[in-house]
Amino acid sequence: MKVRTRFAPSPTGNMHIGNLRTALYGYLFAKKTGGDFVVRIEDTDQVRLQESATEIIFKTLEQTGLDYDEGPGKEGDCGPYFQSERRPLYMEYAKKLIEKGAAYYCFCTDEQLEQDRASAETKGETYKYPKTCLNLSKEEIEKRIARGEKFVIRQNTPSDKEVSFDDAIFGHVTVNSNDLDDMILLKSDGLPTYNFANVVDDHLMGITHVLRGCEYLSSTPKYNLLYEAFGWEPPIYVHLPLIMRDAQHKLSKRHGDKSFHDLLDDGFLTDAVVNYIALLGWNDGTNKEIYTREELIEAFSLEGISKSPSIFDINKLRWMNSEYIKALDFDKFYEMALPWLEKEEILKQYDSRKLLKLIQSRTEILSEIPEKLKFLPSVKEHTTEMYCHKKFKLDVDGAKESLIQVLDKYKAIDNWNETTIHDALISLAQETGKKNGMIMWPARVALCGLDSTPGGAVELADIIGKEETIKRIENAIKMFN
Ligand code: GLU
Repeated sequence: MKVRTRFAPSPTGNMHIGNLRTALYGYLFAKKTGGDFVVRIEDTDQVRLQESATEIIFKTLEQTGLDYDEGPGKEGDCGPYFQSERRPLYMEYAKKLIEKGAAYYCFCTDEQLEQDRASAETKGETYKYPKTCLNLSKEEIEKRIARGEKFVIRQNTPSDKEVSFDDAIFGHVTVNSNDLDDMILLKSDGLPTYNFANVVDDHLMGITHVLRGCEYLSSTPKYNLLYEAFGWEPPIYVHLPLIMRDAQHKLSKRHGDKSFHDLLDDGFLTDAVVNYIALLGWNDGTNKEIYTREELIEAFSLEGISKSPSIFDINKLRWMNSEYIKALDFDKFYEMALPWLEKEEILKQYDSRKLLKLIQSRTEILSEIPEKLKFLPSVKEHTTEMYCHKKFKLDVDGAKESLIQVLDKYKAIDNWNETTIHDALISLAQETGKKNGMIMWPARVALCGLDSTPGGAVELADIIGKEETIKRIENAIKMFN
């Protein structure tokens, strides 16, 4: 059997982390097993539909390299892949269910349903549609349809039946059909609900493994009743664990949790985010954390998916992002980082390649770049204590002495560049018998006013230029007087 997975997003907004993980796992499993990864756009909920959301879906799949084998723009044998273009199909299949007694027309108005609900509530009962329209005669149905009355088609759930299925992650799930409502399959606008369309389409598209969020776990028995009524083989269900913001709360856009594109806007790299998301609910039993795409495909298995929720840890993602940034070749980093420099007018006065070389290995996310370079236009107020350094055996007096010596050396350099600055400082160490750090440390603090400096005394001096370097060292010496 050739594996066929699908990603079936509803275009209702941004690409959330959970959705992207579903897409990724579906892709990885298909690629691992030599199967097909299918994309289907579930756009039947006209109320929640957002124009731009479909674009976001395709853009995300492209950016993340989750290439699909079949879907919009890549027609296979099972199209169309937009559910809104499959409308006639759903009516046809709903009618088949009606013939089998597994579904029925319902003409109840909203007011009537509201009354039923209210009366159930007053009796303290859980509301379930009371099957009012189940036994309408064929003639009456035809008459009412001909009169133009609005109708929906509902599932006819059998009473008191154990409905169960085996989920690849969550194991055996059973519910009693008395706890299931006669859900709407086809709405009065002729479009299907998710509950119906997912079954019809997964079957018609030959999907073998349904990977999706575990919020669908409890509805799946209802879907299995539909498969049964049609006489179709249900797919293998792979419900994915929850992603949490912390121990108590699910990740949710309503609470401001970031979407995939929000993370990119914050300066995370696509590959780092995808790598991190892969580990949210899956591991291959090793401690490995950084994976190339090929390695992920190779290592991925359904057995590695856990059923316990995983926590989206932004600090872990930052760490992973910094590893990706470090591993970029400089030209690639430069290309990615440049837009962040350009947002800050002041940084345009400096050599952008040198600036970015300085901070590549010290950057966790690209948006920190301007902050890291804040020392360039001017040195922040700081204290003489920052010049003291245990390891370099530097106290206030020692630091001052080094600064005075460094100043002379800097002043004597004619041709100002990294090599001449480097040679001057090293020769100072040799002449004075001081360790390099005793010379370099005070100089670098003086040049940026920070004790966690974005670079060494040589690179910093080179970038800010001779005149500014001398000014900063002189100002620092004044602090000691
Ligand atoms: N359209 C559903 C959603 O976006 C898909 C659920 C599924 O994968 O079956 O949540």
